[in-house]
Amino acid sequence: MTTTFTAVAHPNIALIKYWGKSDEELILPASPSFSMTLDAYPTTTTVRLDATAAEDSLSLDGRAAGAGQRARVSAFLDLVRQRAGRRERVVVESRNTVPTGAGLASSAAGFAALAGAASAAFGLDLDLEELSRLARRGSGSASRSVHPGFALWRTGDDAGSYAEGLDAGDLDAALVIVVLNDAAKAVSSRVAMRATAETSPFYSAWLQASNDDLDQMLAAFEARDLDGMGQVAERNALRMHASMLGAVPPIRYLGADSFTVLDAVAALRAEGLTAYATMDAGPNVKVLCPAGQASRIAEALARVVPAASIITAGMGPGVRVYSGETAGG
Ligand code: ATP
Repeated sequence: MTTTFTAVAHPNIALIKYWGKSDEELILPASPSFSMTLDAYPTTTTVRLDATAAEDSLSLDGRAAGAGQRARVSAFLDLVRQRAGRRERVVVESRNTVPTGAGLASSAAGFAALAGAASAAFGLDLDLEELSRLARRGSGSASRSVHPGFALWRTGDDAGSYAEGLDAGDLDAALVIVVLNDAAKAVSSRVAMRATAETSPFYSAWLQASNDDLDQMLAAFEARDLDGMGQVAERNALRMHASMLGAVPPIRYLGADSFTVLDAVAALRAEGLTAYATMDAGPNVKVLCPAGQASRIAEALARVVPAASIITAGMGPGVRVYSGETAGG
């Protein structure tokens, strides 16, 4: 019998964005970010240790992963091995239910799940703070998916930069997710944020503005003021995209359909609904709203972008890890 470790994690959507690193190797963010973990799109990752294999292996969605994806996972597993003082290679099988690489935070769910499963497999007993710090090394945004509900990922050094879970109290929040295009993006988040930081004259302004946005976001969150949170979230996302538009060459993830949705969201607000948009490194739009308004908002958006697939997500759980036995090795 072989022991396997399975972890389930969900994507999170940043309402104050992470865009740019102060340290590429350690994945330290240049500014703090704030997110909601979803109850939709779980990623399930199962690992088992293989003392005889020469290399780690990665299957993603039932297929052998590409060399780049495997190298990224293997580099992450090296950190776990180093920490545990062990050498075994790892067989990793992961399934995303969110489209991979489409700006819907597959890497956040993927590395939160891998951090949970691999740390358990190597016998590391990590608390949530340590797990968040470890997940950060796989993908920065994964540091936040470790937590349920809302999370704040602070800047800091290697020891100080991890996400903490925030108590959402009775906050009523949902995200209507409008998937306009689920193809993998041409430019990865990693490459795009580096290019923005290195070449955009707007990047320093983005960092300043985002720090100010966070203060206002946290005040609105404390007050359970969803309108206040939404106003800050929408402008923070647009400011992030503005910083990318200033890069050389420009980076543009938003398409014509994204703006159609933004217009429709503004029209819904004019009708008195609480609806605010946020967009990540892809064309897809997520609309923050109270759960009770989500179906009306989803129906209205389906009329303006009929080809889109639209789902509603609520606040989701943090990473969960299970162990099991399988026959053979
Ligand atoms: P984000 O919104 O966090 O940027 P994304 O899905 O839009 O995520 P990328 O940041 O480009 O896009 O990350 C996608 C990459 O993350 C994949 O190409 C793969 O290398 C890695 N990844 C995604 N899902 C998994 C998974 N379940 N297990 C391991 N690696 C994964």
